[in-house]
Amino acid sequence: MNNDILKVLYSQEEIQAVVNRLGREIAQTYAGKTPVVVGVLKGAIFFMTDIARAVDSYMQIDFIDVSSYHGATESSGTVELLQDINTDIEGRDVLIVEDIVDTGRTLKFLLDTFANRGAQSIKVCTLLDKPAGRAVDAESDFVGFKVPNEFVVGYGLDYDEKYRNLPYIGVLKPEIYTNN
Ligand code: 5GP
Ligand code: MG
Ligand code: MG
Repeated sequence: MNNDILKVLYSQEEIQAVVNRLGREIAQTYAGKTPVVVGVLKGAIFFMTDIARAVDSYMQIDFIDVSSYHGATESSGTVELLQDINTDIEGRDVLIVEDIVDTGRTLKFLLDTFANRGAQSIKVCTLLDKPAGRAVDAESDFVGFKVPNEFVVGYGLDYDEKYRNLPYIGVLKPEIYTNN
């Protein structure tokens, strides 16, 4: 698996340092509160478990699974809810934990969904932000790294459902795409 990586963008150590920084920022923001922290499956699983343990604050944890359809209808950008949270978020402070924000469509869907349910506040923590990919207005409050417009894998992020378990974030060799 490691042989498929062209270059490492962020090492385990760099990710850990960023997680610790975000953890401190989030703890300050929610001092005295108990936010509902919602991890977006599956890409954010590793980030979610690391960030939750880096925040010295009470919190509730939940997960949501959404899927965005690309391909021929990419511009339509339909987002489908596959598995909902089971926490009632009316009047609650919600923190969405994402792996990456690219077009922003997934995030916009989540922001709209939680706003409609009457959340008191909604903030977003994303490990990676790809501003060059943005198609709709959906911004994050806590950002780990701003990434160039390249397809990245590892630390939760997949290509064809593989590479999620790489402990670092990297770019695949071009032949991996062409051989598949
Ligand atoms: P958006 O809705 O913002 O366009 O994209 C969100 C989803 O697209 C992410 O949660 C992720 O699944 C996928 N995605 C966007 N950019 C990348 C990337 O560079 N690598 C991987 N593995 N997935 C990406
Ligand atoms: Mg995601
Ligand atoms: Mg994916």
